Amino acid sequence: MVDKVRGLMMGRLQPIHDGHMDVIHRILNEVDEVVIGIGSAQISHTLTDPFTAGERIMMITKALSDGGIPANKYYVIPIQDIERNSLWVAQVMMLTPPFEVIYSGNPLVQRLFLEAGFKVTTPPLFNREIYSGTEVRRRMLDEEDWKSLLPSPVVNVIEEIDGINRIRHLARKEL
Ligand code: NAD
Repeated sequence: MVDKVRGLMMGRLQPIHDGHMDVIHRILNEVDEVVIGIGSAQISHTLTDPFTAGERIMMITKALSDGGIPANKYYVIPIQDIERNSLWVAQVMMLTPPFEVIYSGNPLVQRLFLEAGFKVTTPPLFNREIYSGTEVRRRMLDEEDWKSLLPSPVVNVIEEIDGINRIRHLARKEL
């Protein structure tokens, strides 16, 4: 029996968008299973990280199902940040199934895994000007079209948790 090869994708996924989905499909074209690490799992209710780890799990699993990715092809693991970057790879490895390849465009993530001896691959960016969490959250605040950037089940989860009102409330100035 040949062992399965797994790829790791780390992301805050605030929220998961079509650019992230493109990366996940690419990873599954190259390896057997994808481990999706939800970074900064302890952070929520801020303008840059509005959603909890649990809410992000809902968004990711529903988006993957909608994208035709079977549940036995992926793992979704929340991973809290730690203060020491030099120990972070060990923190990730402690919490995740074994993986061989890292897929990330984030220079810090790349550097830490390279120094730990992992193979690191940079996936091509998919229309980064609009498919970015920053742009999605900006549109949510500015009442522009954010829904077209996200898989429809992610839109449904954000509506279910009243996510737009949360972001707009967080952006208010105290009078
Ligand atoms: P992100 O959600 O911004 O991006 C996730 C991945 O998707 C990245 O590799 C990015 O390049 C890719 N991506 C984004 N838009 C794309 C597009 N349009 N097309 C293709 N790919 C696209 O998340 P991130 O900031 O990279 O997440 C890293 C996480 O790791 C953070 O939560 C960070 O805190 C954590 N981290 C923690 C420590 C520590 O605790 N010491 C150290 C390093 C990293």
